[in-house]
Amino acid sequence: MPQLTPMMQQYLDIKEQYKDCILFFRLGDFYEMFFEDAETASKELELVLTGRDCGLNKRAPMCGLPYHAAESYVSRLISKGYKVAICEQVEDPALAKGIVKREIIRVVTPGTVTESSMLDEKKNNYIMSIYKNSDFYGIAYCDVSTGEFHASEFNSSNTQKIIDETARLTPSEIIYNMELSENTKLLKILSDRFNALLTHYKDDNFEYNSCVNKASAQFKNWGKTDKITTAVCACGALLSYIEETQKTSLGHINNLIIYTVDDFMMLDISTRRNLELTETMRNQTKKGSLLWVLDKTETAMGARMLRRWIEEPLIQKEKIQYRLDAVEELYGDIYVRNYIIDNLNSIYDIERLIGKIVYGTLNARDLLSLKQSISVLPDIKKGIKDLKTNILRDIYSNIDELIDVHELIEKSIIDNPPLSVKDGFIIKEGYDTEVDKLRRASKEGKDWIAALEAKEREATGIKSLKVGYNKVFGYYLEITNANKNMVPEGRYMRKQTLSNAERYITPELKEMESTILGAEEKLIQLEYQIFCKIRESISKNIQRLQRTSWAIANLDILCSLAAVAMENDYIKPVITDDGTIDIKDGRHPVVERTLPNNMFVPNDTNLDILNNRVSIITGPNMAGKSTYMRQVALLVIMAQVGSFIPASSASIGVVDRVFTRIGASDDLSSGQSTFMVEMSEVANILNNSTNKSLILLDEVGRGTSTYDGLSIAWAVIEYISSQSKIGAKTLFATHYHELTELEGKIEGIKNYCISVKEHGDDIIFLRKIIRGGADQSYGIQVAKLAGLPDEIIKRAREIIDMLEVNDINNKSIEILSEVKKETAAAEAHKTYIEQLDFFSSNKEKDIVTEIKNIDILNITPIEAMNILHKLIKKV
Ligand code: ADP
Repeated sequence: MPQLTPMMQQYLDIKEQYKDCILFFRLGDFYEMFFEDAETASKELELVLTGRDCGLNKRAPMCGLPYHAAESYVSRLISKGYKVAICEQVEDPALAKGIVKREIIRVVTPGTVTESSMLDEKKNNYIMSIYKNSDFYGIAYCDVSTGEFHASEFNSSNTQKIIDETARLTPSEIIYNMELSENTKLLKILSDRFNALLTHYKDDNFEYNSCVNKASAQFKNWGKTDKITTAVCACGALLSYIEETQKTSLGHINNLIIYTVDDFMMLDISTRRNLELTETMRNQTKKGSLLWVLDKTETAMGARMLRRWIEEPLIQKEKIQYRLDAVEELYGDIYVRNYIIDNLNSIYDIERLIGKIVYGTLNARDLLSLKQSISVLPDIKKGIKDLKTNILRDIYSNIDELIDVHELIEKSIIDNPPLSVKDGFIIKEGYDTEVDKLRRASKEGKDWIAALEAKEREATGIKSLKVGYNKVFGYYLEITNANKNMVPEGRYMRKQTLSNAERYITPELKEMESTILGAEEKLIQLEYQIFCKIRESISKNIQRLQRTSWAIANLDILCSLAAVAMENDYIKPVITDDGTIDIKDGRHPVVERTLPNNMFVPNDTNLDILNNRVSIITGPNMAGKSTYMRQVALLVIMAQVGSFIPASSASIGVVDRVFTRIGASDDLSSGQSTFMVEMSEVANILNNSTNKSLILLDEVGRGTSTYDGLSIAWAVIEYISSQSKIGAKTLFATHYHELTELEGKIEGIKNYCISVKEHGDDIIFLRKIIRGGADQSYGIQVAKLAGLPDEIIKRAREIIDMLEVNDINNKSIEILSEVKKETAAAEAHKTYIEQLDFFSSNKEKDIVTEIKNIDILNITPIEAMNILHKLIKKV
């Protein structure tokens, strides 16, 4: 029976424990992959697939890559959604008895990478853990590269919240327990929409008691957690997973932040996308998003934290006020602000440097980056010493100048060290006497050799005699062939023959060489040991560094917001709890930046909880309805993030949630029709909004027949505006002009339209929102602007004239006014269905059915005209 070779047996034993990973198996200077891993890797990484005798009849498929190039290959596999287990030789092969011992030293996964080359400097890379039991969802998430760790929990009936939280965090990896894995629909959404690697993690890891032990040992601020048992399970499992993959202690993960989703403004997944908070809908780039406008941060920590601020607008008036006050103080003091910004500019990514300290991957150049960052802290502290607002005082007291850390690096690390910490040339002269001694020995040896050239030239009389060095032969004396005859007999030993010269050594040269090389080898080892000690002693200051980097990130954001406010002419909004949104001359922060100078037309907004709850906005396509609606939502979000806003004055009553139903949805991949998606989004809004929410609805009901759509839109407005149902502030853009009849009939509704001016056959967009309903759709004019052929425009005009002659419009308005009368009269008693059911008791019932049965997409214009004529005759 053929038997596996011992090494292959070792390989398979290790692989057995890491079945879901691609195993990088260290063999000398290579990482090799075998069997299926080799086949996968050769395809994904375009590596040549070879084979290796493994003891069996067939050779094992194999492919490999040089160990020093591993990082880029790992990075490619991770970005394609694989996990990679790195298996090293953990004993010296020369000393090994039998097969060299090998162990997995780390598992690299999308959510646990720490290498800068695999991370986006301006974005957190989260790994999320979801634990579900019958009553709750517990979630925890962590950025392994920075140590940030949060946890929360909520009722298990609310699956949508899991989706919304995932949308906020966009984790690159999610682990979950068995019970969650039974919800295949949710898992599909998580994997399809977020591109996260999903791993079902064994249930033992979520066991409560062991999770409490784990978490209490890890977090320095661990406190009483009786109330959040589910979140604790998610935390414990996440810590286990990180430990298992990193295989190192996680000193920087020491602070657990427990939050509830009610701490922040609730924004569901489609709202985040529609409002383009951190990336655009079309091509998912930062450029064109709100973040793009607001981000003038200087540091990576600031950039990441600003993104989080935008993803999590506040809902407590005082907290918002604190931020705005700080922005105001920096806005008003350009001198201080510029001074701070200049200094922030020299600060490296302290947070991720801390991560590198913990993982032992920090090199000497990183230490210099840390030193450079620390060196500006005293100046920054001095700069903000006299600032008065609360947050800035807080920042001041949290910045630790870290003078001792600076001093340690300053006196120990030379100014231009190599990338590798195992090549020497790291430790400064005067820091360690042994290093100095070895260096002196090596230098003296080299000086002796340098002097040897002159000495030997004189002794031999050969003017062209040279001393050289190469890796194979070490030091030698080189003499050209022409002078060969002058070489002193006996003392010189020939070592190498070249075409034009001979190379010799002498016993004393070799002796000196071994002194030099011995000293250098010792020196390299010693320098590495000392470097590790320095790294170790800096790691004792992790919490001071973390506090400081938190303060710097905050300061950076506040300066950025102040600078953006000044540059773009923003004002400080007044924040209230009275539910009123009163904006004068508001502008869309992104659209105004994309238009040439001052081309953006400012508009007012007036919403409150009494008479101005719902604005029904009409106006032709392209008039600016959705820009206006998004603008209102963005200004509210900006204000609640703590930013100044583009307006001439504004009072913002804090809103708890913003909902949007705008444009085409991105959920078509789920196999639902556009209308179905639209309706489920509306249902989500109706189920989750409160009287403190702000809702934007754009053309709700358009995805079905006119009467269905109008009826639904109508009923939705009634429901939202009713204080006993929702009573939320709402902007409702619609093409159903009939809805403008609701003003005056239902309390709280006001009509607005975006004005246009007629100019002959054309229209001019004025972009100004004014009170009242639009009387026309101007569809044909807009179609003309869009470049539809003249012939079609002309024909459309003829048709519309015909329709108008036949007074079809008047007829439908008549029908609808009947509905409205009935609705008003029956308001107190009838249900919505009854209110809208007038069709069934009218002679128009048949007509409605007939209209419903028209297959619009499959009839010719002539047939359409005929049907219309028939219908008109019937009414
Ligand atoms: P609608 O939703 O009514 O079809 P949009 O909101 O999409 O119209 O606006 C159409 C275009 O008009 C936008 O792309 C934008 O460039 C421009 N626009 C909208 N509002 C304004 C404004 N207030 N000032 C200047 N241009 C605007």
